[in-house]
Amino acid sequence: MVAGTALLLPVTALTAVPSAAAAEIQATTLTYDDSQAAEFKDVVAQGVNVWNTSVTNVRIVKASPGQRANIRVVADPGWPRATLGPVRPGGQVTVWYGRVAVQQGYNKVRIASHELGHSLGLPDVKPGPCSSLMSGSTGGVSCANTKPNSAEIAQVQRNYAGRTAQQVATPEIVLTDAA
Ligand SMILES: [Zn+2]
Repeated sequence: MVAGTALLLPVTALTAVPSAAAAEIQATTLTYDDSQAAEFKDVVAQGVNVWNTSVTNVRIVKASPGQRANIRVVADPGWPRATLGPVRPGGQVTVWYGRVAVQQGYNKVRIASHELGHSLGLPDVKPGPCSSLMSGSTGGVSCANTKPNSAEIAQVQRNYAGRTAQQVATPEIVLTDAA
């Protein structure tokens, strides 16, 4: 599925539907709003695609104009930071896409997928190797790995497994990714 057609999908995953769509609907659908992402809209879309092609329990689609999105992405002059999820369909978290990390040469798609990892409930794992997405800046400024490792994938799958898990609220915690 390409991102452009995802807008046609229903945005709530909690509605009961006939069995034909049952497998599809078991994924939690989350929306993101890039209207304040400025020059980072394209890399944010690539970070979203990383997650959509890495996990099956959650799908991230672009919000409709004016819709209250689950994940707000805001371009910011500081270091990247993000609210720690896992965000639920009724909730909202924010990714501040910080320009300082870009100015220092960190991979822009990795920044996006790392911060979205926080939205999906992954904490930082620092220090860590480049093979870990959540090692963030400690993976090295030259690290171009944009994808979660198997442990990170498994954690997100657990975070979005089952309807009960989808409805658990999480406290507001903001993680800052200064190097
Ligand atoms: Zn982080």
